[in-house]
Amino acid sequence: MAGDAPSANRNERVDEGTTAAGEQPAPTLAWAREYDPSWQPAFTESTFGALVQVAGDCPRCHHHTAMNFPAVIPSSTVKAAGQVVTMFCKCGLPHEGRPDDDFGCGAYWGAVAEL
Ligand SMILES: [Zn+2]
Ligand SMILES: [Zn+2]
Repeated sequence: MAGDAPSANRNERVDEGTTAAGEQPAPTLAWAREYDPSWQPAFTESTFGALVQVAGDCPRCHHHTAMNFPAVIPSSTVKAAGQVVTMFCKCGLPHEGRPDDDFGCGAYWGAVAEL
């Protein structure tokens, strides 16, 4: 626990000023399993049959990412609305140092979904 001191972030440059388009692949950010409680991205929910897709831009690498959740969670104690889900970045773009079983930049955050 509590091992997230922002010490040596190698090669992490923040280029401000050109974030209007949103489609441009930013220079690759190194992969890191990161969580920031201030990440509350405004994601869009769409329902596809038995799945709810939550989609938007990753708050860390700003690539487009989407995750699917079952619209009905097979658990009896779940409330119908305002389910907090954990989202992981799955932007699919290469991030340096990424493990084989990950598909994004390593960021994760909580999102409220109406499942
Ligand atoms: Zn990414
Ligand atoms: Zn990301």
